[in-house]
Amino acid sequence: MLWGLPLKYSTIADAYEEIERTTKRLEMTDLLVNLLKSTSREVIDKVAYLTQGRIYPDFVGIEIGVAEKLAVKALVRVSGRRDVDIEEELKKTGDLGETAEKFVAAKKQVTFFQQPLTVQRVYETLDKMAKASGSGAVDLKLSLLAGLLAAASPKEAKYIMRTVTGNLRLGIADMTVLDALAIAYGGGKEARGQVERAYTICSDLGRVAKTIAEEGLEGIGKFRVSISEPIRPMLAERLSSPEEILEKLGGKCMAEYKYDGERLQAHKKGNTVKLFSRRLEDISSQYPDAVELFKKHVKAEDAILECECVAVDLDTGEMRPFQELMHRRRKYEIERAIDDYPVSLFVFEVLYVDGRDLTLESYPVRRGILERIVEESDRVKLANGALVSAPAELEKFFMEAIENGCEGLVCKSISSDSVYQAGARGWLWIKYKRDYKSEMTDTVDLVVVGAFHGRGKRAGTYGALLLAAYTSERDTFETVTKCGTGFTDEDLGKLPKMMHDHVVPHKHSRVDSMLEADVWFEPALVIEVLGAEMTLSPIHTCAMGSVRKGRGLAIRFPRFTGNYRFDKAAEDATTSAEVLEIYRNQLKRIGQS
Ligand code: ATP
Repeated sequence: MLWGLPLKYSTIADAYEEIERTTKRLEMTDLLVNLLKSTSREVIDKVAYLTQGRIYPDFVGIEIGVAEKLAVKALVRVSGRRDVDIEEELKKTGDLGETAEKFVAAKKQVTFFQQPLTVQRVYETLDKMAKASGSGAVDLKLSLLAGLLAAASPKEAKYIMRTVTGNLRLGIADMTVLDALAIAYGGGKEARGQVERAYTICSDLGRVAKTIAEEGLEGIGKFRVSISEPIRPMLAERLSSPEEILEKLGGKCMAEYKYDGERLQAHKKGNTVKLFSRRLEDISSQYPDAVELFKKHVKAEDAILECECVAVDLDTGEMRPFQELMHRRRKYEIERAIDDYPVSLFVFEVLYVDGRDLTLESYPVRRGILERIVEESDRVKLANGALVSAPAELEKFFMEAIENGCEGLVCKSISSDSVYQAGARGWLWIKYKRDYKSEMTDTVDLVVVGAFHGRGKRAGTYGALLLAAYTSERDTFETVTKCGTGFTDEDLGKLPKMMHDHVVPHKHSRVDSMLEADVWFEPALVIEVLGAEMTLSPIHTCAMGSVRKGRGLAIRFPRFTGNYRFDKAAEDATTSAEVLEIYRNQLKRIGQS
């Protein structure tokens, strides 16, 4: 290890290049282990962020944000070439990184030796660019970027350019970085569980990296939930009958209404409240009214709570469809959206209160605390729940939930080990949803991983999208269907633009597909799809081999419902295990009829 010596940016660029060449997760992990081992402790957090194309954890909300035009200008300045030449080349490669590499290489032949770029310098410059604001911001960004490019080798220029424009896309999942950290500094893969626990409660890859490098597993063991660092949400498995649910939960459970809105994690510190989305973005500015409600109705100085934020009709008190909340995603005129689309909060979790981390307490203890600290009103309520121990009771409560405009129930374990499983989809929460009741029509949220060119009327846009389910065990996306139905002309017009930034030159390393798409995407966009039936398939890889050897599962007659699930990250899509569950459930229903 090169302790004391500043890490050169070229070391990172070399590693990126090798990582890009492989599509195998294990090889990628090995390369990352080598990189992390050769990284000094002072900058290891920065290296962790940079591998993800960021300079801070997502929830901080600081992005480098250099527009393509500005990047081209910087290249003009450094290469001495005309912008038309650069744009011409850019059209050919479609990749600003490669274009920068080429032009910087041409220039380098005539420049003299320079000080090598260090990671520290690159990071600090990117940080300045990200924080530049006000009238001189554009010029400042331009000169900072030009300064970096002037000092960079061609290869370094390639990765700097991709990083600043948000196109690094090495395909390294957070989970792969955790694997690599466990191996590099935790004594081996066995440490992965501990490293992951730290990450799920702080969501800050850089902090985890720095702590394990400096203090080893002992430091990692000291991680506690803290205000302002969002906790990765606990998720539910799904089952399709009250009998199965009760059996799985030991004969009794707390059944809570499953409200259909947007999940919010509220961090209250004194009189300030921050709200994080299910994807852990800070969305406080979208819900100033919810911020006020939390301030007013939570009787604790400091607390972390979770709720479902639901659009409501204030006149009738009725809940409105989830889609209405999309109007809150705008940046301007939020005041008007607040009036037009008011919300109510249904609080269902407390994870921290006045210095106490509650994530390892049982659900009944947490619910008890929640009942004490939330002061209910017509806009703030505890999630409606009932203790049930018989299938008929559960079914009755389910019907009541549906009648009241909910999606179904989330049935929660009340055992002594019913901890808050941050970041995990486990069996301590089981959802029981309405769509299981209708004949073979389950909506699923699938990830767009590829596309096929359209013909005839659809020339110039996509004819169909290749969709995949997520599998957390392997951290891959497994294809399950090709969907070309349900898209309006407007959808078709905007899809290529929406997907433009996610295009990758070959199948993404985390995508498992036997089909060859015309265009490949990094897994990012999630869309809701309604399927008519499911079959075993030799060409789709979803849950491959789970039902029969050499066969995956496919959704037949899929139709896009019109709902883009921007609130979900690719990893939040329906999982292959859930698809398998739907398939088994469908078989049962066919068997019954
Ligand atoms: P879905 O699309 O079905 O909401 P999901 O992947 O977003 O699924 P799951 O964990 O599978 O999330 O289902 C639970 C979700 O239901 C939570 O993420 C939360 O947003 C919502 N929800 C509504 N009411 C409750 C409740 N009482 N307890 C827990 N979650 C609830």
